[in-house]
Amino acid sequence: MASIFTKIINGEIPCYKIAEDEKHFAFLDINPVAPGHTLVVPKHEVSYIFDLSEEEYVALELFARKVAKGLQEAVPCTRIAEAVIGLEVPHTHIHLVPIKSEGDMNFSRKLSIPSDEMQALAAKISAAVDIHLK
Ligand code: 5GP
Repeated sequence: MASIFTKIINGEIPCYKIAEDEKHFAFLDINPVAPGHTLVVPKHEVSYIFDLSEEEYVALELFARKVAKGLQEAVPCTRIAEAVIGLEVPHTHIHLVPIKSEGDMNFSRKLSIPSDEMQALAAKISAAVDIHLK
């Protein structure tokens, strides 16, 4: 059965989209740990990041790097932190989180951001990331 992220990539489930290229997709985490928390996924559905081929692994990180650059320009923060957990959704994904302090990277404390704010965040981040994808 297709993962929830494959359904998002295919447009069967809505998301706040940030960017995509031929092999990757980025969208806002629905329960962010900080505003702008973005998930970067390969379109090829592989559960565990370290089971990706070398080529897929490097390509995913290079795409995530472009997304992170735009994210940092769009959301006030000190750094973009990166994490890989994967205990909830068995489709490889990288968490990119705008942080000001270590405490912002607390995956036990999820935020609920209203839909209109998520929409506005996604539009702003998407425009900034777009420049790095060209
Ligand atoms: P992990 O698998 O890395 O432990 O966590 C999965 C992440 O995906 C969580 O941060 C969770 O909030 C996010 N997530 C789960 N389902 C959905 C969904 O349907 N849409 C979006 N945008 N994010 C989701």
